[in-house]
Amino acid sequence: MDISFFSRGIKLSRRVKPGKIERIPPPGRVVLPLQQGSGPPAEPSIEIGEAVKVGQTIARGASNSGADLHASISGEVTAIEDLHFPNGTTVKALVIEGDGKDTWVEPDRDDKPLIASPGELLERIRCGGVIREGSDTKSLAEVIGEAMSPRGYLSPTGSAVAKPVRHIAVRFSDQDPHLDALAALTATIGDETAELDLGVKVLATITGAEQIHFVLDNKQEAPGVDKLADDNDYSVLHVDAANYPCLSSPMVARAVSGKEPDTAFKRVHENGILVLDVNTVLETALAARDRRPVISRLITVGSLAGAGVFEARLGTPLADIASAAGQKEKIGKVVLGGPMKGLAHHTLDFPLTKEISGITLFAQDQVTMAVNDPCVGCGLCAMVCPIRLTPGMLSRYCEFSSWDLAQEAHLFSCIECGCCAYVCPAGRSMVQFMVQGKSELLSTRRSES
Ligand code: SF4
Ligand code: SF4
Repeated sequence: MDISFFSRGIKLSRRVKPGKIERIPPPGRVVLPLQQGSGPPAEPSIEIGEAVKVGQTIARGASNSGADLHASISGEVTAIEDLHFPNGTTVKALVIEGDGKDTWVEPDRDDKPLIASPGELLERIRCGGVIREGSDTKSLAEVIGEAMSPRGYLSPTGSAVAKPVRHIAVRFSDQDPHLDALAALTATIGDETAELDLGVKVLATITGAEQIHFVLDNKQEAPGVDKLADDNDYSVLHVDAANYPCLSSPMVARAVSGKEPDTAFKRVHENGILVLDVNTVLETALAARDRRPVISRLITVGSLAGAGVFEARLGTPLADIASAAGQKEKIGKVVLGGPMKGLAHHTLDFPLTKEISGITLFAQDQVTMAVNDPCVGCGLCAMVCPIRLTPGMLSRYCEFSSWDLAQEAHLFSCIECGCCAYVCPAGRSMVQFMVQGKSELLSTRRSES
């Protein structure tokens, strides 16, 4: 099925054919933050001085649904140190000095994982450290638990209202047109779709989802994926991925359900739709069948000179990855993620985490400062906002601390896509205003409760 469901947003060029994935050798030392997503940090389960193998659990998820963390190289745990995140927070991180042997834990394969109960499969995903990627990175077990849990209200008959997951949508291309990792991964799948098939079936078993949708860029060629969909009666949605942000979760949910998504607090799953990236589905299959945990990440390294996709062990210094990508010039600005939704950082002295799907590098002379002139009310931002908000007004409310007015104007429905900032002739830091407004309102709520 070819569909044209998307209006607004902006057109951005996208590489037609992503390159091959290059594997970066395991580094001699890794730094693994105990927090790898938006949930609370995991609890270390090893002692300093202990020897570890690749894939060994080194920290347990902080709750029943928090993802575990695993050693990404073999060696010795030498320290627990503070690591400063780009968002200003500080998190404890485990340091492993490698022994150069890359010794793995013994495999524990289950050839018939679909016989296991949904609860057991969910626990394998949690133990495997699988997280849902994207703008709200968190433990996949937690995401599924939230999507399936009863709402906080009762039906007219007095029973708790549950909103089951009815659809699972699998995304085969990155949301940000400048990132290529998912397209490069999809290109490697070819006809070997057994793991994709298993991952989808594990997720359907856990959630009870009745309909599966594969969402591909209309320029992507993936005959194996098409065949798998055909064989299983899954639907295939082709989108113009250059039309940003049509691959964001709310837009995919709108395409799948035909309904306006509830984007407030990123509650897309309230519509009964779980949108996941293809690598998350493959990691789910490996966790369920082989009990193989997540120890590496695919990462797009982009600069204005070009882009490449790499697979690197978690905890690898980003500077090593940039240098493997051929980056030689002095870097003026680092963006963790793609240029549209990434988070600016001042240094490459930071380890690869599960949250990082790309780094975008700018030379000093490519860095521009935000102008932040007053809003002239031109309305361009409202023309491109995919959620149909009035970004100009929202930015003014947040600029002048009118938090209640911002909330009334649906600030929490903003998906922080950056389309408004991209077109604003006044060079206003639109997303920063929205993020600040949300933080102020949330902290006020917390202090009042
Ligand atoms: S207001 Fe939010 S959702 Fe709308 S364009 Fe701006 S960043 Fe995107
Ligand atoms: S595009 Fe910029 S200047 Fe124009 S209305 Fe929006 S915020 Fe104001």
